[in-house]
Amino acid sequence: MDPVTQPRRAMVVTIDGPAGSGKTTVSKLLARRLGYRYLDTGALYRAVAVAVQQSDANPDDDTALAALCGRIHLDLQETADGARVLLDGKDITGALRAPAISLLASTISARPVVRTFLLETQRTLGAQKSLVAEGRDMGTVVFPHAEAKFYLDADPRIRARRRFEELQAAGSGPSLTVVEQEMVQRDRNDTTRSVSPLKPAADAIRIDASDLTAEQVVGRMLERILPLA
Ligand code: C5P
Repeated sequence: MDPVTQPRRAMVVTIDGPAGSGKTTVSKLLARRLGYRYLDTGALYRAVAVAVQQSDANPDDDTALAALCGRIHLDLQETADGARVLLDGKDITGALRAPAISLLASTISARPVVRTFLLETQRTLGAQKSLVAEGRDMGTVVFPHAEAKFYLDADPRIRARRRFEELQAAGSGPSLTVVEQEMVQRDRNDTTRSVSPLKPAADAIRIDASDLTAEQVVGRMLERILPLA
């Protein structure tokens, strides 16, 4: 085919890292700069956690989790207000960031049955269009052939403060100590689980964002991506 008329192939950029490392801000900014779709996979785990909470399913019971995953339908919608998450057609975006949902998402994300369900969902949502995918196992498991992979980290105290400020801005008020404890717990869950633990892909570029603004992080990522696009 004539290279001029040949459609440009979809590019996948992955951004993994622990809670509070700035992944969400950076991923959204980067996606906007590149004109790519933004895929927030943490929101999908959080949505399953909301479904577990609503149905009172036991988060340690794989049979109950499998049944739940088999009957729910998740969707992401781009709107003028940003991405909305739909659970069985109902907008649950407002419920996703509650601290109890953060911890429940971390608990259920260690269950293979949930990961298998969301693997399919993530790849379907990510198909065809160029995208920036944010999560814990984007570069290692979900999109192992991504063209550009990044692993974003930051000092744990800085991460806790960022998350604390986000929650304050959203109007909910756990103390900094509670936010820090919750983050340590989530980091431990996410890095030690046997399936798809949080870790950098072998070919990921690691960025320590402790002393960088989101703009600076995006600048470094663009230096790497633009020659490939
Ligand atoms: O990124 P976010 O903090 O919204 O993710 C919520 C939780 O979902 C994480 O703590 C992690 O346990 C889980 N998660 C995951 N794999 C992903 C994205 C999120 O296990 N790709």
